[in-house]
Amino acid sequence: MVPGNLFIITAASGAGKTSLIKALLAEDTHLKLSISHTTRKPRPGEQDGVDYHFVDDAMFLQMLGEAKFLESAEVHGARYGTSQSAVDAPLQAGHDVILEIDWQGAAQVRRLFPNAISIFVLPPSIETLEQRLNSRGQDSQETISKRVAAARAEMRHVSEFDYVTINHYFDVALQDIRAIIRAQRLVGAAQLQRYGSLIQALT
Ligand code: 5GP
Repeated sequence: MVPGNLFIITAASGAGKTSLIKALLAEDTHLKLSISHTTRKPRPGEQDGVDYHFVDDAMFLQMLGEAKFLESAEVHGARYGTSQSAVDAPLQAGHDVILEIDWQGAAQVRRLFPNAISIFVLPPSIETLEQRLNSRGQDSQETISKRVAAARAEMRHVSEFDYVTINHYFDVALQDIRAIIRAQRLVGAAQLQRYGSLIQALT
């Protein structure tokens, strides 16, 4: 069994990465999303074990002490982490795994998995980002300004990523990410292993 590929997808909130990932998972059963642990409270409609594993601070720190996390970071005042088990089992089973994590987590994963492919999703303009961050239309200007500042801070790390896509048109960004995943699946070294007997017969 050839182990799967590890993809990191990062974006400032408001760039639309969650919808893109949802669409990718719906069309491609070989792709698995790693479900992170977080200490933030569930939002309405979020389910434990589906959107996140929601844990308290004590549990998170215990897991951290037991080296259960591949990476972890503090984002907007809450802790987030990818557990080893969320990634190891699906990769070993040959699935491709997506990590939807921030730039700090991406940096940690790159050190551990130099072959991981990282993708940054950018919004088409700061105005679009502001509109998307204010989609509920109920937040104060101060809250929105804070979100925009956090988004800018995240986007300053864009040059650390292997690929960059602009989510102006959802379908175009989706095609971009699909193309990256597809190309990665065709990397020669893995194909030689996968199709060893065919190649032997052909050569
Ligand atoms: P949210 O709370 O809105 O779902 O996510 C907030 C931020 O935390 C997003 O940028 C998201 O990518 C990031 N995040 C979610 N899970 C993880 C994780 O396991 N590790 C890291 N480093 N960041 C994460």
